[in-house]
Amino acid sequence: MTEQPSPRSRFGTRAVHAGVTPEPVTGAIMTPIFQTSTYVQPAVGEPRGGTYDYGRTANPTREALEANIAELESGTRAVAFASGLAAIEAIVKRLSAGDHVVSEQNTYGGTARLFDKVFARLGIDFTYVDSGDTEAVRAALRPNTRLVHVETPTNPMMRICDIRAVAAVAHDAGALLSVDNTFASPYNQRPLELGADLSVHSATKYINGHSDVIHGIVAVRDEALAEELLFLRMSTGAVPGPMDCWLTLRGVKTLHVRMRQHNANGLAVARYLEAHPRVDRVYYPGLPGHPQHELAARQMDGFTGMVSVDVGTLERARSLTEHCRVFALAESLGGVESLISVPALMTHASVPEERRAAMGITPGLVRLSVGIEDEADLLEDLERVLG
Ligand SMILES: *Cc1c(COP(=O)(O)O)cnc(C)c1O
Repeated sequence: MTEQPSPRSRFGTRAVHAGVTPEPVTGAIMTPIFQTSTYVQPAVGEPRGGTYDYGRTANPTREALEANIAELESGTRAVAFASGLAAIEAIVKRLSAGDHVVSEQNTYGGTARLFDKVFARLGIDFTYVDSGDTEAVRAALRPNTRLVHVETPTNPMMRICDIRAVAAVAHDAGALLSVDNTFASPYNQRPLELGADLSVHSATKYINGHSDVIHGIVAVRDEALAEELLFLRMSTGAVPGPMDCWLTLRGVKTLHVRMRQHNANGLAVARYLEAHPRVDRVYYPGLPGHPQHELAARQMDGFTGMVSVDVGTLERARSLTEHCRVFALAESLGGVESLISVPALMTHASVPEERRAAMGITPGLVRLSVGIEDEADLLEDLERVLG
């Protein structure tokens, strides 16, 4: 395909083609890595294309990735950042001292740390709620609330927020809704279609999918909001490098194929663990026993490869995670290879113990990022260590 996919193209076709056109000089089918800091200008103050003056401001490899993700998220624009946290940081940097944010309490640990240890010091107030309870979000709103930030499914408890309902509540109060869509990926969930204003990703995870870059991206529908984020990125500098943009663009072309396998393996592992006598609880929105299964089925097209289980004690969590052979003991998620971790001691170690307990992150909680290996090998690995 040498033209852009039509708006009616399906997700997989858009994943492969959106934003990508043959390079005009040679016809190279792959977007070049424009590894350059500056551009030669034909006349003083007249950069080519009106924008190509400096690499922080404009880069064609980055723009191809942004155009691709904008389409996959059903947005009009996307803005790429050096990391997921840099993307979330930019969203909050739109605000000023004295503004208020309502945030999901059970966010990625680094997000809570950014809010509490950096932005709170700069005069932005945060209220933490269970955003799975729309009324709790409504009750937390104040006249100066400018942003509601949620994550769904949450990490690692896999709670679901009703995006459509929370968007309406936020908009009634004059606030924007940003959704951290990292856990779902745009293949499984498109928050902008449900009324959210910003869909933000740690593209480090499913979007890139190969555990080889740190990368963030925000998709929006509103032009003015996109321009604001571009201005913030240009002014504060958290740009991703051209090589990382290229790797993420290469990764996203197989997003639909990978996610089908993640979804299938995630469900198989969740079902296996649910039936296992040594497992106390399984948290997976694809299981009918999940308290928000119906809501999840309504707003998601698949339930991902993320599964959390409670095995009772830290000793058992340790022994399970340290003795797997296919599942590697590591933080992060969303790559083709399966990972396993203990959130209380790893990803969420920086969250105060009291808050961890309130979220349900017990010492015996184990989080699995189920990869795209063969299902039988994954189940055998778990069987061997669980006994
Ligand atoms: C990893 C992660 C982040 C942070 O992204 P980085 O790319 O590591 O900066 C934010 N939100 C969620 C849900 C994550 O899993």
